Amino acid sequence: MKGEKYLFVVSGPSGTGKDTVVARLLKNHPEIQHTVSATTRTPREGEKDGINYHFMTIPDFEEHLSRDQIVEHTQYCGNYYGTLRSEIEGRMAAGIPVILVIEVEGAGNIKRMYPGATTIFILPPDMAELERRLRNRGTESEETIQKRLKRAETEIGRSVDYDEHVVNVQVETCAESLYSIIQFKLAHGKDE
Ligand code: 5GP
Repeated sequence: MKGEKYLFVVSGPSGTGKDTVVARLLKNHPEIQHTVSATTRTPREGEKDGINYHFMTIPDFEEHLSRDQIVEHTQYCGNYYGTLRSEIEGRMAAGIPVILVIEVEGAGNIKRMYPGATTIFILPPDMAELERRLRNRGTESEETIQKRLKRAETEIGRSVDYDEHVVNVQVETCAESLYSIIQFKLAHGKDE
């Protein structure tokens, strides 16, 4: 599809700080836009519908799926997460750089559907630091933390499939590394 070079997919294990990094990138470079995914998980404190996610019930999500309004979706730790077609295709056609922050399965699906997209994996400095960040967030139960740590190992194992890798040691530096990757692709990527 035309405009695939404008599509950027960012993944990284839970707790790696990818949302903070992407938020900094968007603040520094407002010409880049962020998509809002749909999910059936309950909002965390401070999260807003339509801003952090489109929070949906399971039947609502399944209805969107049956209408082909969700281009990729996965089940993650017991909840549905999915990318809405309306969030990406208009922007790609209009030549607006757009970022999806999604897990590895979704990233693989997006890359198969839109091979011109760029996939970027954000790594933590090491596993101990990842666990520390996850615990510091203070939003998850011990059971969820354990699930997310287990999943992190699998995800890091699959990071070899990504086009680009960035280690999040420091938010600003990591955000600017992402920006360099985006700039390069916009300048040199094929647009077909
Ligand atoms: P969280 O519950 O921490 O907000 O998100 C859990 C995981 O789901 C994260 O890795 C996040 O990037 C991923 N995720 C969020 N939205 C989507 C989506 O639309 N599709 C897929 N495949 N994963 C998503």
